[in-house]
Amino acid sequence: VRALRADHTAWALVAFGGVLLAATGCHHGPSKPTTVVVYVVDTQRADHLGTYGATRPTSPHLDDFAAKSLVFDRALTHASWTLPAVASLLSGLYPAEHRATRDPRDEYRYSHLAPEVTTLATVYHDAGFTTGAWVDNVFLAPEFGLKRGFDVYDYSGGDGSEERSAHATVAAALGWLGTQRGPALLYLHVMEPHLPYMPPEHLRLRFTGPGEPPVPVPFGMGELLGKLMNRLWVPSAEQQDYILKMYDEEVLAADEAFGELLDGLEHAGRLDRAAVVFTADHGEEFWDHGGFEHGHTLFGEILHVPLVIRLPGVPPARLATQVSHVDLFQTLVALSGQQAPAGTHGEDLRIFAADPVRAAAPRVTLSEDCLYGPPLAGITAGSYRLVANLQTRVAQVYHLDDHAQGDTLVTDPTEREPVGNDLMKQLKTLRGDLEMHQPAETTLLDGEKVQKLRALGYVD
Ligand SMILES: [Zn+2]
Repeated sequence: VRALRADHTAWALVAFGGVLLAATGCHHGPSKPTTVVVYVVDTQRADHLGTYGATRPTSPHLDDFAAKSLVFDRALTHASWTLPAVASLLSGLYPAEHRATRDPRDEYRYSHLAPEVTTLATVYHDAGFTTGAWVDNVFLAPEFGLKRGFDVYDYSGGDGSEERSAHATVAAALGWLGTQRGPALLYLHVMEPHLPYMPPEHLRLRFTGPGEPPVPVPFGMGELLGKLMNRLWVPSAEQQDYILKMYDEEVLAADEAFGELLDGLEHAGRLDRAAVVFTADHGEEFWDHGGFEHGHTLFGEILHVPLVIRLPGVPPARLATQVSHVDLFQTLVALSGQQAPAGTHGEDLRIFAADPVRAAAPRVTLSEDCLYGPPLAGITAGSYRLVANLQTRVAQVYHLDDHAQGDTLVTDPTEREPVGNDLMKQLKTLRGDLEMHQPAETTLLDGEKVQKLRALGYVD
């Protein structure tokens, strides 16, 4: 099955080359970018960005960038928390395959990337690019294995109160880029909208306005976070409104740094031939289904992520096709000129921009792995999502809106049974089975890492 998938991908890419040439009228062949930048905003909900309909002006730089880019309205991540989500983005594999996941039987054990996995950075390295990553999430610490293939892996996983700012992350990456002559791949992962909410001085109060805050600031630390995560305390409507406004001030800070990144690429003379991606590892729950934070569920507010891609020579477009991070992986691999590693999933996203028939075809997406509670696996297809509890062997079916969000439980058995059976079959096909997979090599984190996780609210 794996060999067939790889072959299929190769054929799709060959077919695609012809389509793009026709669509763009380019007679010199598709332009290969010399700089490829992936900007990941941790915990960035799509619907809190202007491009995706936010009511507050949270993202002027992204909105401007999106007008010149491919904007995917229905992009999904493959996991509910950082490690497995980023591992899928960087490997083109689902969580059960790359195994950088939580141990399904133990909430406090996390596995690193399986040793045989080829990463995007390795692919780019082999294509003659220098490769650099600037990451600030403790689950991206080098021992989790996502540094594979990066020449430079600048990990700065401070605890919640001392995390590196997006501004500083961008400055570090641009500083490095300034010393590079040839083609370069950059992966930036910024932490602003992740808890705790403590917007930078110059943006603080932008949306909340002055006055006595109805919640502690910084918000979402210590004992209070434990109560929130365990649903022992639900803030009032006024408090929730204030918390959302602080989150949006953090979104604005990540957007401001994104603007600095684009400016820096332009000053370096690299922007014209750069491929630039804006996305998120996962979203955040704001009591949409009664809960708060991420890593607990597979609802749309967690799985729906922004995906905006600017590619040299590709005209701007807005697409409703359901896509995901493994598709982003295939797109980036294709841009490097290399073959996709065997067994990887997804399709080059440019196909959907060039071919309306392909763009309209139905697609399914597998998402799994939670940081807390029983192991869940979900599948999203059209207007439905099925979420299966791999421990209790119980599955639920939800109705979705156009953005694969708004999950409402399907209760009518005449609808639920046929849809559920079909989705269950598709889930089994994509995942191979419905078993809880034991991570091949489980890493029990050292005391210092556990301290940092605790500071971020991950460990009680
Ligand atoms: Zn994350």
